[in-house]
Amino acid sequence: MKKEILKLRDFKVYFPVKAGVFNRTVGHVMAVDGVDLDIYRGEVLGLAGESGCGKTTLGKAILRLVEPTNGKVTYVSKENDETELTSLEKKDMDPFRKKLQIVFQDPHSSLNPSFTIFGSLQDPLKKFGVNSKEERRKIIGDLLEAVNMRREYMDRYPHEFSGGQRQRIGIVRALCLDPELIVCDEAVSALDVSIQAQVLQLLMQLKKDNNLTYLFITHDLSVTEYLCDRIAVMYLGRIVELCDSEDLYKNTLHPYSEALISAIPVADLDKKTKRIVLEGDVPSPVNPPKGCPFHPRCPKAKDICKTEVPTLKKYSTNGNEHYASCHLIDLPEISK
Ligand code: SF4
Repeated sequence: MKKEILKLRDFKVYFPVKAGVFNRTVGHVMAVDGVDLDIYRGEVLGLAGESGCGKTTLGKAILRLVEPTNGKVTYVSKENDETELTSLEKKDMDPFRKKLQIVFQDPHSSLNPSFTIFGSLQDPLKKFGVNSKEERRKIIGDLLEAVNMRREYMDRYPHEFSGGQRQRIGIVRALCLDPELIVCDEAVSALDVSIQAQVLQLLMQLKKDNNLTYLFITHDLSVTEYLCDRIAVMYLGRIVELCDSEDLYKNTLHPYSEALISAIPVADLDKKTKRIVLEGDVPSPVNPPKGCPFHPRCPKAKDICKTEVPTLKKYSTNGNEHYASCHLIDLPEISK
């Protein structure tokens, strides 16, 4: 049976927009706007969407690297004890920071160039009570070997490594504290395609070896297809479709997901569907369109879409739960 590790309810992250001589708040960037989401232990949940849709902010706010504005994030332990992370004082977050880690997109900027790899990676270990230097070197050395690097690399500086190697070091840093969940924030986007494949393979092997859960944030749906158990598609701060990975590609319900999938490069031209080109950019999250936020770009929009906001409803495709928010879905809704 599936067990949650994190539960998000009505989760919002708004950033104030300041203007004028008195620097008054004149509006808000609604980066994440009311997300309900369960992440299950042991799964890889993809979080996909164009740049600016709020997926990175969501990932950071779960770990409270960005403070949420509203809503709850609840951590569920292996013993089923629940802790509401959003109501904790920052200092009380420490035990949970150990369990919830992040790998950033840009491995270079996330390593201090003036420290050796050991110098950068030993701090969290010290903070969480690994007092012996010998033990810290052993942990880091073992993890370097786990990501197919030599343990003596810990005495080198970040500039001595390639992009792919630095991303492996970023993964080592996330693994140092033996986490349960890792937010992979565009973790392979900055890498060459051949290196991407190696790092993805490595992530999957580490997941298996360490019983990890991943929240895999990406703008590239071709990466999520074979990696993720489920995928949530975000648009303008909201989840517009959430389902099993296979269903997203075979039984797509939301026009935005359809457009993203149609843009995936396919080697076999017989399998290539017509590309749906979306007009314009993602609208401003300061002043989102009325009705369905996707309607100014949606090739299927009707009059109702301009006035009524579609809610995320539950359907069934291929016998699986399938959530989507669109007025035009012609399937029976399933009560939650
Ligand atoms: Fe397109 Fe209307 Fe569906 Fe929104 S509700 S995705 S505008 S068809």
